[in-house]
Amino acid sequence: MTPPLLLIDVDGPLNPYAAPATRRPEGYGTHHLLPESWVARNAPTPRSKVKPLRVWLNPAHGPELLSLPYELAWATTWMDEANTFIGPRIGLPELPYIAWSDLFGEDPDGLHWKTRDVVAWAGGRPFVWLDDELGPQDIEWIAAHHPGPALPLWVDPRTGLEELHFAALREWAEEED
Ligand SMILES: [Mg+2]
Repeated sequence: MTPPLLLIDVDGPLNPYAAPATRRPEGYGTHHLLPESWVARNAPTPRSKVKPLRVWLNPAHGPELLSLPYELAWATTWMDEANTFIGPRIGLPELPYIAWSDLFGEDPDGLHWKTRDVVAWAGGRPFVWLDDELGPQDIEWIAAHHPGPALPLWVDPRTGLEELHFAALREWAEEED
């Protein structure tokens, strides 16, 4: 049996960026990261003047994700940089990642710019997609266009991944087994 895919967004699920800035969520560590994609987005500001991103990460999340009966992949604007900046800090090995066809693009039907790529990348395999930006229109579109089971699971960017998400992931994998 091939396990279902677990497509993981970074900002929101792993990095609860919308939590109150003065109160780092419990269990998280603070990292100041300067990925090249962030430097590029700040052009023409020179690299030395770009303010690093403040990223909160919980080192328990890597082992917890790895213990799930899923095949993990990145579904994040960090793309391959998640493998250098995020994964090693929470104990995840190098993972495949979705290379977006239209980063931050506007969708003609009002879908999230990731949604069509997520479904194309899954290639018909069962998947769960963790993201803080997916909405009802994405859930509907995925149900209509993905030929297998799929669970788009919204995560609150004020809290990040919580036990309820891990419980839902375990339960879903069992049902699909
Ligand atoms: Mg996000």
